[in-house]
Amino acid sequence: MTKEEIVEQIKENALNQQIPIMSDEGIQYLIQYIQEHSVHRILEVGAAVGYSAIMMCLASEDVVVTTIERDEVRYLEALKNIKKVGLEDRIQLLYHDAFDVSLEDEYDLIFIDAAKAQNQRFFEKFEKNLVSGGTIITDNMNFHGLVDQNLDEIQSKNLRQMVRKIKNYITFLEDNSRYQTHFLKLGDGLAVSIKV
Ligand code: SAM
Repeated sequence: MTKEEIVEQIKENALNQQIPIMSDEGIQYLIQYIQEHSVHRILEVGAAVGYSAIMMCLASEDVVVTTIERDEVRYLEALKNIKKVGLEDRIQLLYHDAFDVSLEDEYDLIFIDAAKAQNQRFFEKFEKNLVSGGTIITDNMNFHGLVDQNLDEIQSKNLRQMVRKIKNYITFLEDNSRYQTHFLKLGDGLAVSIKV
């Protein structure tokens, strides 16, 4: 099997198991971003089964990824998947809660794709690891279109809370003068925050 076929199988398996992986549109944007900006070091929060880490790594031979996953089953699956595509030398997979991880290294790109309600906390924890001129990309900013809805229209209390947190994160990014943030309606919505 070619690398592309293995990756396609990893993606299909994840989708069949209803593991939330990045949409094709989102992944294509990340790949293009990595290539156009000559991104070298990437930190990802939320590996799941390693699909997006693998895709980012395959975007360019120069890319190395550190990615964090707190779920044991997904971590073990990610470990297996990374080996299958032979990227164990370029992807460092950490089995931890991201809030317990202490990193000294610097990254050109930080990709936040973990617990949506915690986006601001992830951003604030890891921004010290971003190089100046680097970028933080956050996924799920539209939360399946719910972020565009009026909060009163959302019946479930849990969903309302989640949407409120994402809206607060949008305000946090808009008000943050140290970053220039663009919101893109790609996939489930991306926030692209460039450190100015
Ligand atoms: N980036 C992956 C991809 O596209 O292939 C998908 C990641 S999935 C949307 C989010 C993952 O983040 C889940 O597997 C979840 O267990 C993990 N996660 C959530 N909160 C976390 C935390 N505090 N620390 C580490 N992992 C976390």
